[in-house]
Amino acid sequence: MRSFHIITFGCQMNEHDSERMTGILRDRGCAPVQDAEDADMVILNTCSIREKAEQKFYSELGRLKQLKVEKPHMKIAVAGCIAQQEGANILARAPYVDMVFGPSDVARLSVMIETAFSRRSPVVDTSGDPEYHRKRIPTSRGDKIKAWVSIMYGCDNFCTYCVVPYLRGKECSRPSEDIVNEVSELAQQGYKEVTLLGQNVNSYGKGLGQDVDFPALLRMVNDVPDLERIRFVTSHPRDLSDGLIDAVRDLPKVCESLHLPVQSGSDNILHVMNRRYTRADYMGKVKKLRDAVPSITLTTDIIVGFPGESAKDFEATKKLLEEVQYDGIFAFKYSKRPGTAALKLSGHLTESVKESRLTEVLALQREITIQKNKAYIGMHMDVLIDGKSKKGGKLSGRTRGNKVVNVAGPRSLIGSLVTVRITATGVNSLSGEICE
Ligand code: SAM
Ligand code: SF4
Repeated sequence: MRSFHIITFGCQMNEHDSERMTGILRDRGCAPVQDAEDADMVILNTCSIREKAEQKFYSELGRLKQLKVEKPHMKIAVAGCIAQQEGANILARAPYVDMVFGPSDVARLSVMIETAFSRRSPVVDTSGDPEYHRKRIPTSRGDKIKAWVSIMYGCDNFCTYCVVPYLRGKECSRPSEDIVNEVSELAQQGYKEVTLLGQNVNSYGKGLGQDVDFPALLRMVNDVPDLERIRFVTSHPRDLSDGLIDAVRDLPKVCESLHLPVQSGSDNILHVMNRRYTRADYMGKVKKLRDAVPSITLTTDIIVGFPGESAKDFEATKKLLEEVQYDGIFAFKYSKRPGTAALKLSGHLTESVKESRLTEVLALQREITIQKNKAYIGMHMDVLIDGKSKKGGKLSGRTRGNKVVNVAGPRSLIGSLVTVRITATGVNSLSGEICE
C-alpha cells in the first residue's frame, strides 16, 4: 500500500481540493501519513495569489529535494495554481519533481500516479477538464462537523490584480441537484455546518441552463434536514442582490455573517481594479444588509499599495473601515502577479510604503474589532462546538456570526450546539460559560 502526504498552501478552496485528492487516493488504497518523511508520495497543493505564497512553495520544494536525496523512490507532485501557471517550467527549475497537474485535472489523479510510478519520466497534465464541475469526486474531509462544498469553479471577473481567472478558468456552476445531494449526504453523516464555496457565489447559476440563482440554491440547501448552519464565501459586492439579502434574513439555517471583500475605499482605485462598483454602491449594500439583518457580522479583504494608490486614496480606505466597522479584515500588500493587467500600470509603490500602510490598516482594524467584541459581553449566544481551543484546554466553537468562542466543558460536547453567556472578549476570540 502506498502512503502519501499533502501539503496545502492558500485558501479554503485549496484545502477542499486537497480533501478531494485525499478521497481519490484513499479510494485506490493509498494511506495518508502525518509526515513527508514517511510518505511514498508528497503532493504540494500550491497557491499563487501573492508572491509570498509562491516563495513558501519554493522553499518547501527545496526541503523535499533534500529528502528525496535520502529517499530516491519518493515521488513529488506539484498541484494547484502554481502548477497551472508554470506547467512544465517547474521541471526545468526542479527536475526532481515527478508530477505536475492543475486544479481541474484532479479527477485524473489515479491515472497520473500509475504513470509516474511505472515510468521514469515525469507527468505534466494541466490541460484542464471542461466537465470538472459536473463530476462527483470522492472527498475525504478533515473535519467531522463542518464541511466545505464547492458550488462553482473559476471566475470571469478579471479584477486587474488577480491571477485566479487565468489559472482557475471560466466560471462554471455545479448543477444544483448535485450540490443538494452532497449536502444531504453530509447531513446524514452527522455534519452540522456547510460552507458553500466559489470565487463569486453571488453569480451562481449563470450559464447552467437551470432556473436556479444563488438565493434559490440557499433555499434548497436550507431545506436539507438535520443540517444546522449554512455559510458561504466569497460574495462579490457587485452581485450582492436584494434577493440574497432577503435569503440571509429569512432562511433560518443561513448564518448572519458575510465576507464582502471591498479591496479599497477609493473610487479611483476601485475603478482601476475593475471591481465594477463604487464606494457608494458598496456602502448602500452594507446599509441594506444591516437594515434587514441588524445582527449581521461583516468581514472584508483589503489590498493596500495598489499601483497609483495615493495618500488620499489610502485615507479613503481607512475612512471606509471606520464607517463600516467590520468585525474583521484580511489585509494584503499588493503583489505583482504574472499576466495580470495591474502589472502594466504606472505608479507601483515601494515595499516600505506598502508595509507601513498594511501596518496602519491592521492597527486601525484591531481597535475596531476589540471595541466591537466588547459589545458581546453578557450576551447569550448559540455556539457550535467544533473542537478543542489551542490554549487553556478549553472547547472552542463559533457563533452564527462566525466569532470564535472558548468555553470550559467536556469533549463530549464537540459537535453540539450550546448556549454560551459571553464573559470576556479579546481581538481574536470571545470566551464565556455554557448556560444549563
Ligand atoms: N474571489 C474573491 C473576491 O473577489 O473577493 C477573493 C479571491 S482571492 C483568493 C482572496 C483575496 O486575495 C482577494 O479578495 C484580494 O484581497 C487578495 N488578492 C488577490 N490578488 C492579490 C494581489 N495580486 N495582491 C494582493 N492581494 C491579492
Ligand atoms: Fe480574483 Fe476578482 Fe475573481 Fe475574486 S472576483 S477571484 S479577486 S478576479
